[in-house]
This record gives sequence, structure tokens and C-alpha cells, in this order.
Amino acid sequence: MELLKQRIQKDGEVRAGNILKVDSFLNHRMDITLFKEMGREFYEYFGDRGVTKILTIEASGIGIACIAALYFDVPVVYAKKHPTKNIAGDVYSVEVTSFTHGRSYNVIVSKRFLSEDDNVLIIDDFLANGCAARGLADIVTMAGGRVAGVGIAIEKGFQAGGENLRAHGLDVKSLAIVESMEDGRIVFRD
Ligand code: 5GP
Repeated sequence: MELLKQRIQKDGEVRAGNILKVDSFLNHRMDITLFKEMGREFYEYFGDRGVTKILTIEASGIGIACIAALYFDVPVVYAKKHPTKNIAGDVYSVEVTSFTHGRSYNVIVSKRFLSEDDNVLIIDDFLANGCAARGLADIVTMAGGRVAGVGIAIEKGFQAGGENLRAHGLDVKSLAIVESMEDGRIVFRD
């Protein structure tokens, strides 16, 4: 997606540890006009798959998922990182290792909000090692549902996540794939 690539070139900052910082338009301040275009792109690709729900993970995936959901006209469910008293008990839970924070934690989704009738589109902001997306796919499987696909804003193609998910048969659509970001220079895959 050309618009997203241009924005990453303009405002993205390459940080130590293979981190791309995009908090001026995606992760902190959110450019909703850009999100709208991203949602449209996801819909163009996955719109004919009979998606019944969008599943994401808090926090950064939520905004993108919500705007995309307007095109699909389906609810958004987000996996919670922090257990809350009011949904304790009947939950699907998986362990996810955070790429940015370097630690593992359980994410949960209430059993009430996913079922075997669901055909779920997973959406997230970044794809690095694929742990978050794989965890979300596992939750869908636990619920007996199907994964319609995985929509990612920015895939870091030099990390293993995209390749692994595709090798497992998941249809991954990334709007921008970063091929390398050595010495602060961001190069995209065509
Ligand atoms: P994975 O689970 O694929 O290793 O990492 C994906 C998750 O880590 C995303 O949910 C995202 O929040 C975070 N993440 C991974 N790489 C980056 C990055 O370069 N920049 C930012 N801002 N977040 C990242």
C-alpha cells in the first residue's frame, strides 16, 4: 500500500533491536484517514471470505481493527493482556511473547465472544516473529472457529513471523513489508 509506505518513509524511526517506531501516525497518535485506507485495502483483499468477526490484540491493533470492521460490518473482539475480574473464568488463554517488551504474558478472550460459527480475520499493527498472530489463531482454533486470514499493517519481512504463518497455511496480507532497515534506511519489499 503506497500511502502507508510513504508515511513510514516520512515519519517512521528505526530504533535499536529491530524496532520501527511509528507512534506519530499508528501507535500513539493515530491517523484515522490513513486507517480508513488501510481498512479499505483489507476489505478489498478479504471482503469475499465471509468474515464474521475481527480479532486483534490490545492495544495497538484495536484502532486499525475497528476502522476495518466498518467495511466488513462485523464486531471486533480484542484479546486482553491484563486479566480483569469481570471476565475471569470462562476464557480462552494463550501465552504470547512480546517482541517489543521481551517478556511473556497470557492473553485472554472470553468464550462468549468466539464460537465454532466464526470465520475470523486477525488484524494487528506489526508482524515480527509472529507470536501475537499465532496466539490469536490458536484462540480461534480453541473456539472451534476458522481463521479467514491475517491482516497486518507493517510486516518486518526480515523476521520469521510472516514466513512461518504462511508455511502454516494462513493467508497473510501485509500492507507494507519492510525488507530491511539497516543504518536507519528503510527498504520495502515490492
Ligand atoms: P510478533 O508477535 O509478531 O513478534 O510481534 C508483533 C507484536 O509486537 C505487535 O503486536 C506489535 O505491537 C509489536 N511489534 C513488533 N515489532 C514492532 C516494531 O518494530 N514496532 C512496533 N511499534 N511494534 C512492534
